[in-house]
Order: sequence, then structure tokens, then C-alpha cells
Amino acid sequence: FNNELQRSEKMEIISDLAASVAHEVRNPLQVTRGFLQLMNEQNSDNGKGYLKYALEELDRASEIITDFLTFAKPEFEQVSILNIIDEFRHIEGILNPMASLEGGRIYLNIPDGLRVQGNSSKFKQAFINMIKNSIEAFGPEREGEIRIWAYAENEQIVIHIQDNGEGMSASELSHLGEPYFSNKTKGTGLGMMVTFRIIEAMKGRISYTSAKGVGTEAVVRFPAAG
Ligand code: ADP
Ligand code: MG
Repeated sequence: FNNELQRSEKMEIISDLAASVAHEVRNPLQVTRGFLQLMNEQNSDNGKGYLKYALEELDRASEIITDFLTFAKPEFEQVSILNIIDEFRHIEGILNPMASLEGGRIYLNIPDGLRVQGNSSKFKQAFINMIKNSIEAFGPEREGEIRIWAYAENEQIVIHIQDNGEGMSASELSHLGEPYFSNKTKGTGLGMMVTFRIIEAMKGRISYTSAKGVGTEAVVRFPAAG
């Protein structure tokens, strides 16, 4: 009985969210459609500029859909033992170009052999969302630094993600992870919701501390595997 109740509550949340996501996804798709139509009508050199926006909007739409699907279906089909340094090397490879474009760097300090159980692509998605936020928080006044380190403690794997970006107020911090909470003009407000959900599905815990103008630190704990 209890299980059924939980399930129907879950279905309700998911379908509510489906409706609002569909609404959100329509906006970038309509913008894209408008640009493509303009290109078609004008057939001028401006086409290249419009194409750039069109592609950005399409990427945004697919990001929203990916995030939503992960939220709706966080149970993992393919679970294995992950050596987290392998995962973070991959993440670093993906995000370092973005970090240097924004005038910063990622510093990775993780020993070999810290293992957790989970799905590799979901694990990466959770941390990419977090580290992207750190990059997007880089301020203009100093070089952006993101420090990532990890260790084993009491049969847990502890991962720290620390940045020296703009930080969050206590009130911002309290809304972190709520759907559509975003302070960015082009934000989706779905990134942290998805990250929290993935970490929860991996039986992990996450906590954030932050100070405006100083930076933000996230601490994630997973049960150690093997
Ligand atoms: P989005 O990035 O699309 O805005 P997120 O769920 O990823 O949505 O993040 C929600 C909000 O939390 C961000 O808009 C930002 O204001 C704040 N935030 C998250 N991480 C950080 C961080 N490391 N530094 C400063 N602000 C952050
Ligand atoms: Mg984000």
C-alpha cells in the first residue's frame, strides 16, 4: 500500500514536470524556427550569424530534454564499479576548454582506486552540471579556480568541488536544486535538480557552503564500493 502511494505521488510529480518542461522546450525551438525562417527569406551573409544562434538554441533544447529524462528516470540500467579518477579525467577533458575560455582552470587532485558504484554517464552528468556552474560563476576580477579533490573516510568516498566564483547568498543556497531556480539569463534551472537526483539514486549525499564574493564548495559523499 505504502509503495503504491509513493508510486502515484511520483507519477504525479513526473507528469507535472513533463507539462512544464514541454512548455520550456517549446521556447528555444520556436526561436530556432524563427531564425531558420529568416535565413530562408533573406538568403544573405547574415545567415552565418543566425545559424550560430539557431545551433545554440537547439543545444539548449536538447540539454533541457536530457536533464528532464534523467530526472524522470534516475534508476540506472548499467551499473558498474567506477574508479572516480577515470571519470574526473574525462570530465576535466570536456570542461577544461570551457574553463579556459572563461579565464580559469580546473585543478584535479584525486588518488587512483577510489571506487563507487554507479552508472558512468550519470555520474559524469551530475558532476558536469556542478562544475559548469562553477565555471559560469567565475568573476571578472580574478582568475577562476576550481579545485577538485577526493579521499576515503569511514567507508565513504568524499569528493570536494570548490570554486572562487561569485558565490551564493543564504537565500539562493536554500533554493538550490528546485526546478527552474536560476539566476542566469540563459539558465534552465534544471542542472542542480538533476545532480541531486542522481546523487540520491547512488545513495550519496551532497552539501553546499557558499559565501557571496568568495566562492562555493560542494561536498559529495558516496558509499565506498569494493
Ligand atoms: P542554471 O545553471 O541553469 O541556472 P542550476 O540548477 O545548475 O541552474 O543552478 C541554479 C542556480 O544556482 C544558478 O543559476 C546559480 O545562481 C546558482 N549556483 C549553482 N552553483 C553555483 C556556484 N558554484 N556558484 C555560484 N552560484 C551557483
Ligand atoms: Mg547549471
